[in-house]
Amino acid sequence: SIFDSFIPCLQNLHIKSKVTSVSLKNKSFEINGQKKCFYEKLVSTIPLPELSRIIKSIPPEIRLASEKLRWTSLFVVNIGIDRPAISNKHRVYYPEEKYIFHKLGYYQNQSPYMVPNGKSAVSAEISFSKNRLISEDTLIERTIKDLIKAKVLYPDDKIVLTHIITIPYAYAIYDNQRKKSVSFVKRFLEKNDIYLCGRYAQWEYQNMEQNILAGKAMAEKLNAEIE
Ligand SMILES: Cc1cc2nc3c(=O)[nH]c(=O)nc-3n(C[C@H](O)[C@H](O)[C@H](O)COP(=O)(O)OP(=O)(O)OC[C@H]3O[C@@H](n4cnc5c(N)ncnc54)[C@H](O)[C@@H]3O)c2cc1C
Repeated sequence: SIFDSFIPCLQNLHIKSKVTSVSLKNKSFEINGQKKCFYEKLVSTIPLPELSRIIKSIPPEIRLASEKLRWTSLFVVNIGIDRPAISNKHRVYYPEEKYIFHKLGYYQNQSPYMVPNGKSAVSAEISFSKNRLISEDTLIERTIKDLIKAKVLYPDDKIVLTHIITIPYAYAIYDNQRKKSVSFVKRFLEKNDIYLCGRYAQWEYQNMEQNILAGKAMAEKLNAEIE
């Protein structure tokens, strides 16, 4: 696949690891609070508010600008049903307040290998934020109830699997602070040889093809500076 082709080019790859702090002064960062690495130029894909939080001694005005960024988080509730072909759609949006979810995905309609024979699946996307708190405890029950209300499920459908994925940063909110705050923080970071790349680092609405192009553009920019 496309990602496997990158592996021979990568050195010092750390997986299942977290960058836990960055020091601008020493041009270094720590992995899992332990291993220290040094950089000349650092490319970050860490969500921008998170990056600002882990930079040691960040100037207060930069921290303040980062704290102005707003976003929505997401639960993806995956439900497996013991019935084939519950829908012939790929994705359906539900703007109505009466449903807990705003979008349903039926990924078996993109590839039949996404579900076992004779079964179906539906992925419900449910947004939450500081202003719209949703309890995870009753999430599955509420989702199933609303799937029945939306006539996606029958009341007597047999549920064979339930699974929740939590995405803390899902969508940057495009309010009137976003552009100014992002460019202010970005300018400061670039002066310190830290570059932002990707949807959550650049804090903008990007899809996967744009992320790949952003990565390519960043590699070309940094290579050109080295040459
Ligand atoms: C619900 C939803 C549906 C979507 N549907 C589509 C779609 O249908 N089509 C489409 O093209 N796009 C879709 N997108 C967008 C797509 O998922 C994103 O654009 C893409 O995943 C962003 O890629 P990225 O590399 O910029 O960021 P990410 O995929 O978030 O990669 C960032 C990387 O940084 C790592 N990281 C973060 N913090 C740290 C840290 N402290 N230390 C070390 N590593 C860290 C993460 O582990 C991750 O590997 C969707 C997004 C959402 C939320």
